[in-house]
Amino acid sequence: MNKRNYAKELEARIEQFQKAGEYPKLLLHACCAPCSSYCLEYLREFFDVTVFFYNPNITSDGEYRKRVAEEKRLIEEYNRQVEEGSFTGMNSGPGARKIGIIEGVYDPGQFYEAVKGLEECREGGERCRKCFELRLTETGRVAKEMGFEYMTTTLTISPLKNADVLNEVGREAAARSDVTYLPSDFKKKNGYKRSIELSQMFGLYRQDFCGCSFSKAQRELEKENRSGL
Ligand code: SF4
Repeated sequence: MNKRNYAKELEARIEQFQKAGEYPKLLLHACCAPCSSYCLEYLREFFDVTVFFYNPNITSDGEYRKRVAEEKRLIEEYNRQVEEGSFTGMNSGPGARKIGIIEGVYDPGQFYEAVKGLEECREGGERCRKCFELRLTETGRVAKEMGFEYMTTTLTISPLKNADVLNEVGREAAARSDVTYLPSDFKKKNGYKRSIELSQMFGLYRQDFCGCSFSKAQRELEKENRSGL
């Protein structure tokens, strides 16, 4: 069976929009600023993008605040380029639109409820699928409520996340809310590498664990094992 190439599928959709002269409204679920950096650089050329920061999986209030503050700072950096006229990509010029941001509710109880019974799963397993479902279902709901035709997520930029699972969960979540999910695999075309360069360029805070308390504990254990403690 041929493996799907979601990056190519997105390119094909973009080509259709370009041919039709469309600049569609896109709600982009974002997990953190480093992952958003490349996704926004790429998508803002073709879409009127609004970021949706909904991540009740994040382990603590302090960590959440750090991540959301960095997301806002990154968006300000990109929007400053529009104001100053230094953004020269497609859809730039006087009509260029700034990137918007909507912050979802931060209620870790929603996450713990969604992953109940799956606490012991390793990163990449069934717990992560439930976590994706929670975040992308809410993205679909907000997209519908606020009149966005399209949605997708920055999560596919992570080499540690399964693009098939993410795209399937995203498609199902979008369908439930009657919006269109755009397939993505942002790590392709050197997207992940570019996100590291951009994170350095903007001096973004880059956490070394995915987000939840379980992933934090797993990462700490891995570090301990590596250092032979
Ligand atoms: S490891 Fe990441 S994707 Fe998986 S449940 Fe935790 S926060 Fe969610």
